[in-house]
Amino acid sequence: MGYIHSIETFGTVDGPGVRFVVFFQGCPMRCQYCHNPDTWDMGDGKEKSVDEILEMFERNRSFYKTGGITATGGEPMMQMDFLTELFTKAKEMGVHTCLDTSGFSFQENEKIEKLMAVTDLVMLDIKHIGEDEHIDLTGCSNHNILAFARYLDKIKKPVWIRHVVVPGITYQEESLKKFGEFLKTLSNVEKLEVLPYHTLGENKYDNLGIPYPLKGVPQLSKEEAAKAENIIRASWGKELLITEEKNITQDKTGGIVCRTC
Ligand code: SF4
Repeated sequence: MGYIHSIETFGTVDGPGVRFVVFFQGCPMRCQYCHNPDTWDMGDGKEKSVDEILEMFERNRSFYKTGGITATGGEPMMQMDFLTELFTKAKEMGVHTCLDTSGFSFQENEKIEKLMAVTDLVMLDIKHIGEDEHIDLTGCSNHNILAFARYLDKIKKPVWIRHVVVPGITYQEESLKKFGEFLKTLSNVEKLEVLPYHTLGENKYDNLGIPYPLKGVPQLSKEEAAKAENIIRASWGKELLITEEKNITQDKTGGIVCRTC
């Protein structure tokens, strides 16, 4: 059985196409901007079997022709055996699998090999490229996370990188350049999503009686997020070229990036 927070049956921002999104319960990190503090404690999850989840998927299977199943959270890799069973059965059914993870629980061993054998795409959330800043922002080291990024490159697993830009915390030119330099060392990154910090999760903290760590930090505008993305891309060596197609930009290597995410 797995501990599941919730399931979204019509996800459009968690991987390619329309997705059946499974939010796993439990996360070892404590990101200051986390929108889902209600996923932190594993014990708060509802117990579900892989078959129960896949039965729900099957009910609306025709929706997901262009998409598939995404595991997110919380941190799905904390429930490695359950996640691997879910993706193994999904692959047997011919379903595209996407893992949205912080990578914090990564260890190079047989279990990760088994999981990656049934994972089509990894969406890796890199919170901060600097070790000390990462600890300040999340309470945890980024050592395993960057090691996971390098491992995914080694096994040539397609990756989308996500990075949230927070005023005064991750919106720093030097860090963004360093971020781009790190991406330059990887050959498997298909897409970069730079997401502006917003405060929509603040109410959840109030409801849970947890002080909101970023109280008073302003939201970042889309324009500022675009500037941050340009800094990363300039040092990554993959600036965007605007095409005529609405909302779509294309990088120099021909990769398509959806600008509506
Ligand atoms: S890794 Fe994700 S779920 Fe965990 S604290 Fe950070 S933002 Fe929240």
